[in-house]
Amino acid sequence: MYFDHAEGNVFRPPSEAYSFILRVTIGCSHNACTYCNMYRSVKFRTRPMDEIITQINAAKPYAQHIRRIFLADGNALVLSTDKLLTILTILQQTFPRLQRVSCYAGPKDMLNKTRAELIALREAGLKLVYYGLESGDEVVLRAVNKGVSAAEAIEAGQRIVAAGIKLSVMVIAGLGGKENSSRHANNTAQAINAIRPNMLSALTLMLYRGSELLDQFERGEFTPLPPAGIMGELYELVSGIELPLASHCLFRSTHISNHIALAATLPKDKDRLLDDIRAAQAQLAHVTDWDPYNNVE
Ligand code: SF4
Repeated sequence: MYFDHAEGNVFRPPSEAYSFILRVTIGCSHNACTYCNMYRSVKFRTRPMDEIITQINAAKPYAQHIRRIFLADGNALVLSTDKLLTILTILQQTFPRLQRVSCYAGPKDMLNKTRAELIALREAGLKLVYYGLESGDEVVLRAVNKGVSAAEAIEAGQRIVAAGIKLSVMVIAGLGGKENSSRHANNTAQAINAIRPNMLSALTLMLYRGSELLDQFERGEFTPLPPAGIMGELYELVSGIELPLASHCLFRSTHISNHIALAATLPKDKDRLLDDIRAAQAQLAHVTDWDPYNNVE
């Protein structure tokens, strides 16, 4: 649900399908990750308050039905804390049944917020942050131009958790290609162990038209993993995840990019999840005519 005619495409996590999508920025302030083409067609800008209020007013007639609001586009935490607090306060006043506000956030913007600011945002209603960690490996993060080191990427996630905001982390299987698969899996597992997110989504790399990574592939500079290789990498990743017994991390690999759907709660279901991944790997080992673009148009 959104009420906006501004430029650019609107993206939201699958779990925000029934949320009011409030676009507080247009595009992504980083907009330079080599695997991503989501916001390449638009120039990044923050929305002035009048544009934000116009959207909120348009949603008012549905106030009794709005329980979740997602702040779009690519990294809402780029806004100043004062502006975010103003928006969150208006949302609480306008939507009496509101249960949670969530957003995507980039690591640089997470690092630019102090612990006190993040706690203030949580208290004002920001309950969930979706964070594209993608990899915990220095070499892979540099290769895909994520804009942060592995240490910074980890610290960014830790700050959200420490502030009591729920954290949903996304990683991309296959992002390091064949060459960096093992280090990508192992160092991403270590990053997850250090961050301890509430949710972990493992997507599979898709090569999007308009992304630098697709160009690198077509120039022969990047070798994607075959489907069974993706499962081998996932096995290595999940094997390395060691979360405290009392923790409860929802693992999902159910995105349209994934070859076989996988779901578990970690650490409780780790052994079963590893068995599922091994079974999926055996099943995919027979696939020889796989699409290296992974279903890109
Ligand atoms: S992956 Fe996220 S941070 Fe990177 S360019 Fe795309 S939207 Fe921006």
